[in-house]
Amino acid sequence: MRCSVIKKLFVLAVLIWAFVMINAAEAGKVKYVFLFIGDGMSTPQRMIAEEFSRAIGRGELAINHLKHQATTRTVSANSLITDSAAAATAIACGTKTYNGAIGVDKDKKALVSVAEVAKKAGKKVGIISSVTLNHATPAGFYGHQPGRNLYYLLGLDLVNSNFDFFAGGGITNAYETKNPNFKGNIYELAKKNGYTVVIGPENIKKLSKVDSKLIAVEREIAPLAKAIDHTDSLTSLAEFTALGIKNLENPNGFFMMVEGGQIDWDGHANRSAENLREVLAFDDAVKVALKFAEAHPDETLVVVTGDHETGGMALGLSGASLRLERLANQKCSSDAFAAILKKEKENNKDYSLEVVQKLITEYYGLLFTEGQGGMYLTKEQKDLIEKGFNNGKIPEYLRRIMNTKAGIGWTSGGHTALPVLTTATGVNASVFSGFIENTDISNFLKPMM
Ligand SMILES: [Zn+2]
Repeated sequence: MRCSVIKKLFVLAVLIWAFVMINAAEAGKVKYVFLFIGDGMSTPQRMIAEEFSRAIGRGELAINHLKHQATTRTVSANSLITDSAAAATAIACGTKTYNGAIGVDKDKKALVSVAEVAKKAGKKVGIISSVTLNHATPAGFYGHQPGRNLYYLLGLDLVNSNFDFFAGGGITNAYETKNPNFKGNIYELAKKNGYTVVIGPENIKKLSKVDSKLIAVEREIAPLAKAIDHTDSLTSLAEFTALGIKNLENPNGFFMMVEGGQIDWDGHANRSAENLREVLAFDDAVKVALKFAEAHPDETLVVVTGDHETGGMALGLSGASLRLERLANQKCSSDAFAAILKKEKENNKDYSLEVVQKLITEYYGLLFTEGQGGMYLTKEQKDLIEKGFNNGKIPEYLRRIMNTKAGIGWTSGGHTALPVLTTATGVNASVFSGFIENTDISNFLKPMM
């Protein structure tokens, strides 16, 4: 009899243990997970945008003030300096691979991404980017290809992913008819797979929740307009994030990846004003997620990271003072200004250096008259602009002048090996602390799905 009591107690203990363990496992799950990736965004990009934002009265950056922070090593399997493909694969799938690889390991074997784990666990999955949706970073979450430039094949991976929501820029090579693997226009194939396809900001503005999987892109094969050139008639990354929440919220929760993809491009081109405006637009998108987290505090995790640094950006330049607020004078991107000059040259019969100087003052705030102060041009700078008037390099010279005016240095036209910062808030956010590998992000997140 005593023996049977002990047996019963033992069974009870086992049951209690199992119950506790199952609950502990469940406790590790998070219903709503946001992963924000700033492409080419490390500490310099975050801090230049932060100080600029403070200087113009916009206040601190949300992304920099999340409670938990981890220095994050970005090296890839074959290089100290990663590219976006290997970094995306590391962040999404948890495995270091070679530069150029999308969702495959060093032996080109397909890996499993956190987004795929989320989908399998019954969550809805959303992928948003300000560049095209089959570009390296977003592709790392659904694609499995040995090369990042296999855009058409990555487009096929996208429509076959069964993920619930894709939005932002378009799909590169969506109708690459010359591709030997061409099976049809990616958008048509998406419709066949049950996606509602919405193209153009005027149509996206009218969108709310749709009853099917959704692809919503600003332009068919092009990225979003630059943040510095953004107008209210276009869709911002923040608006896409809000649309994502509307379409993904459900009782099983969601995983959403949002990429600020053009921070990197302006890093490559060493364009300061453009770069920090991209970071601010990215920060606005993160704020949308933080507002959602406030309404669902016990069920939401928000993680913000970068894939690598781009440009060797520095807060300080020898011989110049750090005056970030001067960049507020720049009203449009270099590309937009080049287009303005071109149009003026074609349409204005009185086109001259004086006309160009007036445009420069209007769009960059640079002053050609004599005077003391930050935006007055030196004789050398005026000569440089005159040279640019003759050789067509005005936007390039203006870029250099603005960097000097603001005191921002750049050491590279490529990526660097500087670690990035991962910041996080919400459920389980404390795992993002100390010094981590970019692969840890995936390995932390997968069990939470
Ligand atoms: Zn890059």
